[in-house]
Amino acid sequence: MEEKRGLKWNKIKLTTEEEEALVIGNSDDVTNTVNNCLVGRVLTHEKIDMTALKSTMKSEWRFAKGLDIIELGNSMALFQFANARDKARVLEGTPWAFHKNLLILSEYDGSITPESLEMNRCSFWIQISNLPLKWMNQRVGERIGDKLGCFEAVEVDENGNGWGRFMRVRVNIDVSKPLRRFMILELQKRERCRVILRYERLPIFCFICGVLGHSEKSCGNSGEEEESQYGVWMKAREPRKEDRKNIIVWRDRTSGLASPEVLDLTEDELIEKFALGVRMVTSFALAISYSFPLKL
Ligand SMILES: [Zn+2]
Repeated sequence: MEEKRGLKWNKIKLTTEEEEALVIGNSDDVTNTVNNCLVGRVLTHEKIDMTALKSTMKSEWRFAKGLDIIELGNSMALFQFANARDKARVLEGTPWAFHKNLLILSEYDGSITPESLEMNRCSFWIQISNLPLKWMNQRVGERIGDKLGCFEAVEVDENGNGWGRFMRVRVNIDVSKPLRRFMILELQKRERCRVILRYERLPIFCFICGVLGHSEKSCGNSGEEEESQYGVWMKAREPRKEDRKNIIVWRDRTSGLASPEVLDLTEDELIEKFALGVRMVTSFALAISYSFPLKL
């Protein structure tokens, strides 16, 4: 930002007075209110109407208690939630969009400047189809998820199977790269299959280069390919409640793939324990989880 205004940091020499450090870090200096915060950045080159962003996200998330949104400049905003549960619900519900542009969210504790955050990851539910039923299970879901990015969760039934037209896997992906459309799996006896990846609630992305955040009109790669290599077919509809499996298996990011613990909890208890959004979890008689799901 400063570079655009003609300020080039690496060309500036500090004076002796400017070099003198002011030592801070005593308890009196540190504000203790950077709790339950996320930093958000709208992935677009267009200018953002921050007033509209605030009202849109407040009405989209509809929290009973307060949500403060503070403009940080550069298409970024600080979202301060009333409690950890509200924040968790938003993170569990990604991707979110503002005017169809992806809103990237990142955990924030106030220890660095918001500009220093790497804002290029977001979690999506990905529908994996053209996969033989035999391989539609929890373990294969985890392995596919880790190949695509960072596996977070898979939707399965009581037997750990994700049988159906597709298997749903939640993956944290790098949105600065083109969206993956396919993956080759090598099955037994070197038999190969090409699985198809479709994304739920996919915001604006470019049908030419496959990257989120712009459309074909503003793509720098236009005219290179005869056929669009990406398309609307990559957008998946969220399955109806009755078509979903009733278990979401989350990975504990700290301990990796531990043995699952079986929990017999009511839906309310599960939401309390795992801070899951009601929107995403439809019916629970039984739940299997690796542990708290929200360490991104
Ligand atoms: Zn493009």
